[in-house]
Amino acid sequence: MRTLASIQRIRALGPIPDADAIQKASVLGWELVVKKGEFQVGDLVVYCEIDSLLPDRPEFEFLKSRGNRIRTIRLRGQISQGICFPLSILPAGTEISEGADVTDILGITKYEPPIPANLAGVMKGGFPSFIPKTDETRVQNLQDMLDKYVGETCFITEKLDGSSVTYYFKDGEFGVCSRNLELLETPDNSLWGEARKMNLEEKMRLAGRNLAFQGEIVGEGIQSNKYRMRGQQVFFFNVFDIDEYRYLDFEEFKAVLAEFDLTSVPILDENFSLINDIPALVELSRGRSVFFDVAREGIVFRPLTEKRDLMGRVSFKSINPDFLLKYE
Ligand code: ATP
Ligand code: MN
Repeated sequence: MRTLASIQRIRALGPIPDADAIQKASVLGWELVVKKGEFQVGDLVVYCEIDSLLPDRPEFEFLKSRGNRIRTIRLRGQISQGICFPLSILPAGTEISEGADVTDILGITKYEPPIPANLAGVMKGGFPSFIPKTDETRVQNLQDMLDKYVGETCFITEKLDGSSVTYYFKDGEFGVCSRNLELLETPDNSLWGEARKMNLEEKMRLAGRNLAFQGEIVGEGIQSNKYRMRGQQVFFFNVFDIDEYRYLDFEEFKAVLAEFDLTSVPILDENFSLINDIPALVELSRGRSVFFDVAREGIVFRPLTEKRDLMGRVSFKSINPDFLLKYE
């Protein structure tokens, strides 16, 4: 589960041009607007990230008109992501330590957009345990990872706003999964429909290798078809070797996609030396989609050779603030 609320320190405070009552605060790699004088640099606070759904409580009453949901907003030209509360909103006796996850203690849950019927499908079972689910962490929470991997050569892809799909072949069995479930083949399910169009089961049987292909389905009927596509299409971002329990490195990833005649997510840069600068990495996310002249959702960074450590797989997203302002 994603940490939505945690105890964090106010790293910096700064002015917002033409604003007397509010100022800009930095928490983790995030920037947000706070009331002037409410916090001082170095204060510990409860920081709630965007996508937090706050419970009904008098302290959160002012958020009622926004459905209790924390989203990206712009105030006096300043983008604000998240919200800070004094530690006093925590129940008495809560242990106060920097970084502590207080999501559950506060009864905060994650806002999830509704899933359209053609993608939801009919459950066959849980998500297979032999494949990792698709996920990307936000760069604003990864200062430690940047400290460690600065200078690493990365490739950058466009993050597409669609729905996650996993296709796998293992020991003679072909399967289709949405973000969290394996799905039965039903006539109106788009994920299965695309698999059939791509002849993926036949190709994977022929190859006989235990692999999973993970991608994003976009197009008509999905996320209001921001890219104005005809029909639907899957763009892949992972090839996972099930037997070796590892993702393929970039070159091998491209080669295997070519072999199966599958399309990758748009590759924007193949030779990016990772910088240790969260605001600059957020700035890089700004731009238009390669498919259509709309704000892209963001970008995803990965080293050319797969890396993983205690923090997990080295792979992360930088979400375009303009996209969040427009669509959230
Ligand atoms: P959060 O964890 O921030 O609450 P979330 O888990 O719902 O959000 P997303 O913001 O949708 O996740 O980001 C992760 C998803 O992005 C992946 O599961 C994948 O389906 C999708 N995705 C789209 N384009 C790409 C890409 N280029 N590279 C990797 N993943 C991508
Ligand atoms: Mn996630």
